[in-house]
Amino acid sequence: MDHYDYFIVGAGFAGSTIAQKLASDYHKRVLVIDRRDHVGGNSYDYYDDHGVLIHKYGPHYFRTNSKKVFDFLSRFTEWRFYEYRVKAYVNKKLYSIPINRDTINQFFDIELHTAEEVKSFLDAKRVKIDVIKNSEDQVVSEVGWEIYESFFKNYTKKQWGVGPKELDKSVCARIPIRTNTDDRYFTDTYQAMPRDGYHVLFKNLLDHPYITVARNTDFSDINNKVSYKKLIYTGCIDEFFEYTFGRLPYRSLRFCHEHYNKEYYQDWSQINYPNDYEYTRIVEIKHATGQICPHTTVVKEFPLSEGEPYYPIPCPANHRLYTIYRKEAEKLKDVIFIGRLAQYNYLNMDQVVEQTLHLCEILAVE
Ligand SMILES: Cc1cc2nc3c(=O)[nH]c(=O)nc-3n(C[C@H](O)[C@H](O)[C@H](O)COP(=O)(O)OP(=O)(O)OC[C@H]3O[C@@H](n4cnc5c(N)ncnc54)[C@H](O)[C@@H]3O)c2cc1C
Repeated sequence: MDHYDYFIVGAGFAGSTIAQKLASDYHKRVLVIDRRDHVGGNSYDYYDDHGVLIHKYGPHYFRTNSKKVFDFLSRFTEWRFYEYRVKAYVNKKLYSIPINRDTINQFFDIELHTAEEVKSFLDAKRVKIDVIKNSEDQVVSEVGWEIYESFFKNYTKKQWGVGPKELDKSVCARIPIRTNTDDRYFTDTYQAMPRDGYHVLFKNLLDHPYITVARNTDFSDINNKVSYKKLIYTGCIDEFFEYTFGRLPYRSLRFCHEHYNKEYYQDWSQINYPNDYEYTRIVEIKHATGQICPHTTVVKEFPLSEGEPYYPIPCPANHRLYTIYRKEAEKLKDVIFIGRLAQYNYLNMDQVVEQTLHLCEILAVE
């Protein structure tokens, strides 16, 4: 039986970052497994049959305000700086998302020129709600009913399978409302794509003589065959405990890729469809990867209630169930749960890397 200092389940950003740190900074022998046939977790990208670089599990735009995270990842990739812009298709027109001054002018057919004018216009639209209890309250208290109905209500229903009233306020609070004309989706200091793709970033992250990687390997199949001091688990926490207390609900997606014999399919990397069609968005990641080629591949995303666990559904009942699992997890001294699935929390890539780097600092002093 092979012996390792650390056995890491999952080769996404959480598992691969910690493997790299433990091997290179602390000279630990590490085994990383993933049940998929590739490393990179949900950030994985690859060249499709037509030679177009695509993201297998939906578009992954890297951004962060953390210099520490950016510097760490820069050791494993060059970058292509890219600011991501999104449009929403509403009433047969394209509008900037997040809602900004241009969106408001276009939607209401008015001409507001300053942030103050936008603010007083929205003040007249806002619904006064003393305690914001859910995502509907969150949006109508910021922008009123018209924008809520056209941009938020149906998109949220499609994406989450329940209306904004049933969801934590945090779901819609993620999307800012701007009084200026900034049409970037994010405003983080660092916004970039790995120049040669995420698959190259991960190859470099896991390239160390002390790191062994096993793909197509499920934890339940191999656990009894490996000897190790500590387990780091980045899979679903409810699955680890064999769903003893019930399943933590997730929203899933079906990705429908379409190839076109033209250079670009649409003018933007992402167009959202809040009210039309069954899909939520069409993404042409080529805008972000910067790949030069005469044809293109786009992906339509269809939300599902069953399938791969992509989005934890934030609501009080699910949070209560997660807390029960977390308490069980805390009893296990030699198992560490980290990452999006293990913490049942929608975390961006940079947040996962940041938390993982922090965890390494704690492990170092143990
Ligand atoms: C559609 C979509 C779009 C996103 N877009 C962005 C974006 O634009 N920007 C951004 O910052 N973040 C984005 N994210 C979030 C991003 O995917 C996560 O932050 C990141 O993947 C988290 O890394 P992780 O290592 O925690 O989890 P994951 O990437 O999910 O990796 C976990 C790995 O563990 C493996 N695993 C689980 N259980 C087992 C087991 N029992 N045995 C073996 N292997 C197992 C899984 O196969 C998986 O590969 C997006 C997420 C989704 C779903």
